[in-house]
Amino acid sequence: MAAQMGGQPILILSDKTQRTIGKDAQRMNILAARVIAESVKTTLGPRGMDKMLVDSLGDVVVTNDGVTILKEMDVEHPAAKMMVEVAKTQEDEVGDGTTTAVVVAGELLKRAEELLDQDVHPTIVAEGYRLAADKSNEILKKIAVDVSVKDDETLKKVATTAMTGKGAEKAKEYLAEIVVKAVKAVAEEEDGKITIDIDHIKVEKKEGGGIEDTELIKGVLIDKERVHSSMPKKVENAKIALINSALEVKETEIDAEIRITDPNQLKAFIDEEESMLKGMVEKIKTAGANVLFTQKGIDDLAQHYLAKEGIFAVRRVKKSDIEKLSRATGANIVTNIDDLSGDDLGKSGVVEEVKIGDDEMIYVKECKDPKSVSILVRGGTEHIVDEVERAIQDCLGVVPAAIKDKKILGGGGASEIEVAKELRKYAKSVGGREQLAIEAFADSMEVIPRALAENAGLDPIDTLVDLRAGHEESDGSTRGIDVYSNEVKDMIKEGVIEPLRVKVQAINSASEVAVMILRIDDVIAASGLGKGEGGGMPPDMGEMGGMGGMGGMPPM
Ligand code: ADP
Ligand code: MG
Repeated sequence: MAAQMGGQPILILSDKTQRTIGKDAQRMNILAARVIAESVKTTLGPRGMDKMLVDSLGDVVVTNDGVTILKEMDVEHPAAKMMVEVAKTQEDEVGDGTTTAVVVAGELLKRAEELLDQDVHPTIVAEGYRLAADKSNEILKKIAVDVSVKDDETLKKVATTAMTGKGAEKAKEYLAEIVVKAVKAVAEEEDGKITIDIDHIKVEKKEGGGIEDTELIKGVLIDKERVHSSMPKKVENAKIALINSALEVKETEIDAEIRITDPNQLKAFIDEEESMLKGMVEKIKTAGANVLFTQKGIDDLAQHYLAKEGIFAVRRVKKSDIEKLSRATGANIVTNIDDLSGDDLGKSGVVEEVKIGDDEMIYVKECKDPKSVSILVRGGTEHIVDEVERAIQDCLGVVPAAIKDKKILGGGGASEIEVAKELRKYAKSVGGREQLAIEAFADSMEVIPRALAENAGLDPIDTLVDLRAGHEESDGSTRGIDVYSNEVKDMIKEGVIEPLRVKVQAINSASEVAVMILRIDDVIAASGLGKGEGGGMPPDMGEMGGMGGMGGMPPM
């Protein structure tokens, strides 16, 4: 890049810098973002297809989960990366709706491009989109339906809706039950406000068995074994001590100072160490513990004494697990063994070491009113276990969202159609060129029911016509497409239910990224835009072969 001054060119940017300005920059960014949206659109909804992703090491992931697909793709173009960020934000904030957010963003950009072609200025489009997004939030809140925290049936529907179309589908009722129980166990109410920290739900996975072997543990599952094979394998009515220091005698300091000249001295010395360790075990026993978890090590001799006392002991337990054990069993975490008393002990019905697949795991289960629980995910192969785990993670997003806001929406495109309808009315009241942008926003919302229909092999035009007609009825705001029967139905009654928060977040982040991309008219890349012109973008939208990291993908 160079400017002229008195006939002398002045170099401002380095040679390697690649710059795209104005319409070119805009079109390139829009194209890149739309490719990303297209790449996940076919996975949307219960009848969406899966994708097989192969990374550079040949590892395979089979998934239907929008954000997982995008994370696995090695995206290079900056605008495409912004789209991937949208999916990640959606995942972090609410756990579900990642595909929706990205598909809506892609559609918003496609419609914006049409307006740009009609010479509507990008800032007008951006402003119209911003107005429309605000209005959408209002509309969604108005049509949302109340749900009670006690309404387990509806909460389960929220979970099964999030699971449909994923590998976990066939066991969705069963898994939904587990998730709702888990979330309710860790929910805490204070002054009528419910807080849920899903970090208190530990999800472990082990391949083997079937999906229906997935279980909820009212307590903590720990991927460890007991320290000594002669300790009991199972302890009922467990009294649990949690210690975050070591059951060891610090030897180094002693070694440095003492020179032993007489065998009796040596014996006295060993006796001393022995009696210290024995004392520690004695303390634990006197406190009344029959199970011990330590965050640090346990000396061999101490292990021996513990085993002799019939105490079940586990060492080097992760700090986070010790904390979970404390929440689940009510035990206090003690640092100095001398301070340990009966009051510090936690309780659980059973502590047991069990062989699962090839590994030993420790169950601390049947806790009374545990404030920390675990889910063990099982499935025939690694791919199934991973996909079931992702489905459970989605549910762990939506169920708390529904509980916290106590508001739900009909799925199957119901809320998108209603938002589109109301936005069109609103657009007329705004008028001017912004009206065009708000109308484009409304049209963009309909991409969701259209994609749901397309992916189910239905005629998207017919579906849209039916849906729009349904929404003209006075009680039509929850009508969506049942992709199995191809009929427009009340989605709340059908049990296709989404939390309000997921949709609000999806629309907000989709419009934010669309506006951000639209407002860029200058791309200055320090070392070029990846491989070749336009950052390795394929020349044709329909052809995905050019995307980085997806080279090994079979045709879909
Ligand atoms: P996302 O990543 O956006 O959550 P999904 O592939 O999970 O994408 O699809 C979610 C969409 O599928 C939502 O619009 C939801 O309403 C819809 N959906 C889920 N179950 C059904 C169903 N049984 N019938 C119709 N639509 C459904
Ligand atoms: Mg989903």
